[in-house]
Amino acid sequence: MVSQLFLVNLDSVASNVAIVVATILRILNASSCFFVCIVAFILKSYNGSVPRPGEISLAHHGVLFLDELPEFERRVLEALREPLESGHIAVARAMRRSDFPARFQLVAAMNPCPCGWLGHHSGRCRCTPDQLARYRGRLSGPLLDRIDLMIEVPALAGVELQAKWDNEPSSAVRARVVRARESQLARQGKANAALGPKEIETHCEPDGRGRDLLQQAIARFSLSGRAYHRVLKVARSIADLAAAPGIMSAHVAEAIHYRRGLSDG
Ligand SMILES: [Zn+2]
Repeated sequence: MVSQLFLVNLDSVASNVAIVVATILRILNASSCFFVCIVAFILKSYNGSVPRPGEISLAHHGVLFLDELPEFERRVLEALREPLESGHIAVARAMRRSDFPARFQLVAAMNPCPCGWLGHHSGRCRCTPDQLARYRGRLSGPLLDRIDLMIEVPALAGVELQAKWDNEPSSAVRARVVRARESQLARQGKANAALGPKEIETHCEPDGRGRDLLQQAIARFSLSGRAYHRVLKVARSIADLAAAPGIMSAHVAEAIHYRRGLSDG
């Protein structure tokens, strides 16, 4: 695999970009994350006729990581939509209905194309446009609509792999995230992700240029009402991370950038 796309839904935890990026960087080594391989156990499992919580409920208040996202069955991916909105999943069987909590942070990864080489400088990808469209088409528009951040991670050349990087340490990123979260709680008593539509109007109002930018994005990317609200909440989080009291156009632009969809390499 030469590169991966990380798809992130921010509906739980802190709705915080840095948390997510830090999570992505650490996730492959994190023992507390759920690495889900068995489709049947994601939504629910049964002991006889008694429904038991599936992986998405076991990930309640945690991270659900789905690797190779397009390889999951369509019905499983579509069934994620409801809990991503409501934080619950209803399981009905044999006249019996159970409701399980399922407020998880969804992190997923996928290859850029079926062979995994799209965009690589070696030009090894031989996938046809049709194959690419079929592969990407396994993720429905309504599911992608609930994804706040899409981050392309390009392949590193050999020399880059061997280079020494002087990156910001995780401890500094963590401190920034904690400060941003505290500012959210002080301002509105809850994380940005938990804001309702009325609260978004109150706390996530961008400046004039930010509003214009958003207007253009709605037209250009056909943003849904849900996507519009999610962009505003992400922009608010980006502003909080920068300790900015108001949402500026740069924050809105960054939030829109994360939602621009899957590129063609
Ligand atoms: Zn390919």
